[in-house]
Amino acid sequence: SDLSRLILDRIRDVPDYPKPGILFKDITPLLSDPEAFAAVTDELAGLHTVDKIVGIEARGFILAAPAAYRARAGFVPMRKKGKLPAETLDASYDLEYGSATIEVHRDAFAPGDRVLIVDDVLATGGTARAAVELVRRAGAEVVAVAVLMELAFLKGRERLDGVGLHSLVIV
Ligand code: IMP
Repeated sequence: SDLSRLILDRIRDVPDYPKPGILFKDITPLLSDPEAFAAVTDELAGLHTVDKIVGIEARGFILAAPAAYRARAGFVPMRKKGKLPAETLDASYDLEYGSATIEVHRDAFAPGDRVLIVDDVLATGGTARAAVELVRRAGAEVVAVAVLMELAFLKGRERLDGVGLHSLVIV
């Protein structure tokens, strides 16, 4: 589609970042293009009617916040451990080496809120899976996960067991 072309042409592959052997998908060329950034924001905002849109630190914030504004939904940040000031819920997940923990404010959602989770890239799916768990433990309903780019060869989709996944592009 036109949207996938717009996105694919503006994602830069950076070899050996952040570590040797990793081919990093850099979305900054897309963000700096007015038409592409607006098209992605509009697409994310129009996916579902929701009460809140969650952005996952840090690139997820950049996509989720304007989409939430556009959709007249609330924005909720999900952050790395230790960054949120009030009482939090946390979920840990395994990385290739070691583990990571993300947090959300315990009172971020009203009971039964319909929630869309947004991030830039779905890789192994560990981050998105932890985000789904946190939204549910906080008493809200996950309507779907949306990412700009899905790295299909890492099979992250399979770790979301049944949660709807919208990938604006799949590579
Ligand atoms: P996962 O938990 O393995 O699915 O990794 C997804 C998380 O890592 C997301 O929060 C992404 O922002 C980040 N990530 C992984 N690979 C890339 C990449 O190639 N470009 C940008 N972010 C990435």
